[in-house]
Amino acid sequence: METKQFKAESKKLLEMMIHSIYTHKEIFLRELISNASDAIDKLYFKSLTDDQVGLGKDDFAIWISVDKEGNRLKISDNGIGMTAEELETHLGTIAESGSLKFKSENKLEEDNQIIGQFGVGFYSAFMVAKKVTVISKAYGSDKAYQWESEGVDGYTITEADKKSVGTDIILELLPDSEDEDYSGFLDQYRLKSLVKKYSDYIRFPIKMEVTHSRPKEMSEEDKEAGKTPEYEEYLEIETLNSMIPLWKKNKSELKEEDYKHFYTEKFFDYNEPLKYSHVKNEGTANYNALLYIPSKAPYDYYSKEYEKGLQLYSNGVLIMDKCADLLPDYFSFVKGLVDSEDLSLNISREMLQHDRQLKVIAKSIEKTISSELKKMLKNEREKYESFWKAFGLQMKYGIYSDYGMNKEKLQDLLLFTSSNDKLITLEEYITGMREEQKYIYYATGESAARISQLPQTELVRDNGFEILYLTDNIDEFAVKSIGKYKDKEFKSVSADDLGLESPEKKEELKAKEEEASGMLEELAKSLDGKVTKVILSQRLKTHPVCLTSEGEISLEMEKVLNSMPTDQKVHAQRVLEINPEHEIFEKLSSAHKSGDNDKLGKYAKLLYNQALLIEGMNIENPVEFSNLICELM
Ligand code: ADP
Repeated sequence: METKQFKAESKKLLEMMIHSIYTHKEIFLRELISNASDAIDKLYFKSLTDDQVGLGKDDFAIWISVDKEGNRLKISDNGIGMTAEELETHLGTIAESGSLKFKSENKLEEDNQIIGQFGVGFYSAFMVAKKVTVISKAYGSDKAYQWESEGVDGYTITEADKKSVGTDIILELLPDSEDEDYSGFLDQYRLKSLVKKYSDYIRFPIKMEVTHSRPKEMSEEDKEAGKTPEYEEYLEIETLNSMIPLWKKNKSELKEEDYKHFYTEKFFDYNEPLKYSHVKNEGTANYNALLYIPSKAPYDYYSKEYEKGLQLYSNGVLIMDKCADLLPDYFSFVKGLVDSEDLSLNISREMLQHDRQLKVIAKSIEKTISSELKKMLKNEREKYESFWKAFGLQMKYGIYSDYGMNKEKLQDLLLFTSSNDKLITLEEYITGMREEQKYIYYATGESAARISQLPQTELVRDNGFEILYLTDNIDEFAVKSIGKYKDKEFKSVSADDLGLESPEKKEELKAKEEEASGMLEELAKSLDGKVTKVILSQRLKTHPVCLTSEGEISLEMEKVLNSMPTDQKVHAQRVLEINPEHEIFEKLSSAHKSGDNDKLGKYAKLLYNQALLIEGMNIENPVEFSNLICELM
């Protein structure tokens, strides 16, 4: 008999299970029951259109059986079963969904997190068993097969004898150790309570033969003699789970605990959700929904791997695990499920996409999410800010994408760091605006700390105006998509007209600029096309220079767009601004007057590079820059 090897990733996972010090080893039962329930779901789904299945809804069940002598636990189902190939692919390889990225090996702390987070499925059996045997007969197949493994050394697949369609999973438990009482998993009370705890809502009955005891019949004489009765044991088949899905229960029956527990179990998140909402909607769309906002972004949230979607049930039957159409991209962080009677069970995935009722439900769900977020923003600010840190970026993308189509829906949910060192909404910004203030000012940069040092922010700040600090790549694009908020235009602190200067000041500067025009042109010339022009600045107070831009594309946008993997590069039209009140201006003027264009050219390069550095951009030729400094010193 050939022993097959596990795929490398699977082997790692297995090793992790076997050596796990995970404190909740008991979850293996939940995992196996959940697999059994999925398998039944599949066959039940088939049975709706296929008479050959020969089973009705009430015939489906999951069985737990205990063999104390053999130290074995068996979980059986009459679900869809697995063919030999399926045993091989499903149990020999873990899903390569990228859900398991092994950051570092043998770090138990991390292992525990992984186990907790991902609900590692079938392999969790190896946390409690030294040998696992799976005997399965697939629906539509006339042969049954057995998969068996004692861990990392591999597994075997052989033909087996099994009459009915379905799967038996037999665990030979590990011997009890100091730390773990594995035989406890054969105890009926323990099993009962584990099922209640983790699998109560499973839609199919989870049955177990339970031992009870009762007093034996006593003879009249014994009774009269006041003898205590003897007890006898008898067996009874019990259904351990209530089978009512949580979302179908009355809200009044449910505690916060129940909702949270359900979330961590069902969506494999070891963090409690930040917020949940139990929706019972009637009217144009009839549905029950459980919606959750995770407290942390999943590790792959901002990657291509992340799949958005809600579980979709049709009257209690799971029809799709991640129905993407139920969530707009900007709310893709929401987890949960929707159960509706309005959807036909036999609907195919392709049809579902075009289903009118599904669209109505999706609209209604979106509204709910939006109003829940608004409520949280209003009443639970701290919570909202923590939500924002996890998922704000996604909503900003939402503003920018689809040509700004959704900005009205999202703009009031945005938070920005401001120059006052806190997170504020646009509404709050507007409310705090001074009377003479025309614009919503913003500045871009890598971090709030860096932005607050930008020379360009000086003038606006000196006027006592608040500035929004845009630190994410997407921010400026989002702000441009919004354009105006409550009639107030957004204005970059680098924009050419900040609307702050008095007409007299402007005149004064203009005169100065005319006077210096020869020098400014010479400076621009020596920068050799790097800037479109050199001007005298009206925004600088103490700093000598800064770099701004003309036209649609800002320096920040240039940076962002050029970091994208396309061939086309964009260029902001750069403007070098010189502070006419700064000593440096005199130096430049005198170099120009004495006709020393060589020196002026060197000054120009120095100042330009300096401005680049302040902007947090790379200078083209650091060696030349450094030589220039020395030379001029
Ligand atoms: P997951 O359930 O997350 O896909 P598992 O490792 O738990 O991952 O299971 C892998 C696959 O093995 C399942 O997706 C399913 O196809 C198959 N499987 C596991 N248990 C059963 C079962 N009792 N009946 C039928 N198929 C099963």
